[in-house]
Amino acid sequence: MRFSVLASGSSGNAVYVENEEHCFLVDVGLSGKKIEQLFNEIDRDIKKLSGIFVTHEHSDHIKGLGVIARKYGLPIYANEKTWSAMDSLIGNVPVDQRFQFDMETVKTFGTVDIQSFAVSHDAADPMFYVFHENNRKLVLITDTGYVSDRMKGHIKGADSFVFESNHDVSMLQMGRYPWSVKRRILSDVGHVSNEDAAVAMSEVVDIKNTNIYLSHLSKDNNMKDLARMSVTQTLESCGIIAGEYVHLHDTDANKPTELVVV
Ligand SMILES: [Zn+2]
Ligand SMILES: [Zn+2]
Repeated sequence: MRFSVLASGSSGNAVYVENEEHCFLVDVGLSGKKIEQLFNEIDRDIKKLSGIFVTHEHSDHIKGLGVIARKYGLPIYANEKTWSAMDSLIGNVPVDQRFQFDMETVKTFGTVDIQSFAVSHDAADPMFYVFHENNRKLVLITDTGYVSDRMKGHIKGADSFVFESNHDVSMLQMGRYPWSVKRRILSDVGHVSNEDAAVAMSEVVDIKNTNIYLSHLSKDNNMKDLARMSVTQTLESCGIIAGEYVHLHDTDANKPTELVVV
């Protein structure tokens, strides 16, 4: 499998995954036009997608979903509650493009198994995905207020993680957001901070070459260097030296990461 984080952050999210036979998109949180541009940048064809998997109905995950699915006739997969929550937000999608992907189940496309798992976030029924093929494992996990033991069971031992590192707690606390918004982000159904993400990472990485893509960074309450520094420090305090067998990578709100093997 190969993958690219096409875009990540509070302004829009999309992750591309492929193998020899199939290609997939997880979330379409940017405009249709921007998604087309990102596909051009990784030199891939949207028409070939076998499916679009939706994590939850927040606009930074579904902004271009209806437009792209209609334009290219693509199948959309989401769980029942997410379908109900997003139906009025994405415009008309023909019935033959609507598929159900239940929570905590596996769908198989050729040699790829895709497992859905629940996260803790203030959406109807948010879930993220693990992609497995030939003993290689890619985990996508953003938009969760904390990482539970159940989630850790699903995501443990991946070769590559796209892992939320949303905010720096002091930047958030001192920043301009209203208190209600700060409280939501910091809550159990908001987003994980750099430190909390790193503590969770330390419990799920194996002693092998693991690539971690720091994702869904808040535009106002985080910076790439700061996220990397606090994740590195927290991992070190948990006995994991970044650069040794854990490799940290940035993601960007506007440009794709290199398309690499999981
Ligand atoms: Zn969200
Ligand atoms: Zn989000």
